[in-house]
Amino acid sequence: MKYDDYLLKVLKDECPFCDIKKEYILEKWKHFTVILARAPYTKDHLLIVPNRHLVRLREIRPEEWWTLIPLIEKRTKKLEKIHSEVNLLLRDWVANWVLGKSVDHLHFHLIPDIPIYSATWWWNRRIYSDFQTVKKTAELKEKLKWK
Ligand SMILES: [Zn+2]
Repeated sequence: MKYDDYLLKVLKDECPFCDIKKEYILEKWKHFTVILARAPYTKDHLLIVPNRHLVRLREIRPEEWWTLIPLIEKRTKKLEKIHSEVNLLLRDWVANWVLGKSVDHLHFHLIPDIPIYSATWWWNRRIYSDFQTVKKTAELKEKLKWK
């Protein structure tokens, strides 16, 4: 399914990050959850999502910050074992499509191996099916010896 169609049909009335299926979760901490991006920019593209529905970065509480930074560091190191570089991208504020943001729920992207200077790939993004998401999450857990 094309990502744009998914956004229009599936995400119209629900937040995809407020109720993440257990099989999609790579790692869940007290305040944040790590998942594989379902409409990835590149292979092994991860998302770090606050467990609370936050929209702005400034809504993160101090105790959440203290767990976010080590989680980003830990997952970046894992990805760097199999990728040359990892970019961190913040998705803050509401989805307005101007910058390609499509989900209001605050989240951070860990994106291996591609420069973040062009949005030409945006229009060709595809969304994983439920089956593909479960399969790819399990494969990545195995590949990265996820603990
Ligand atoms: Zn949400």
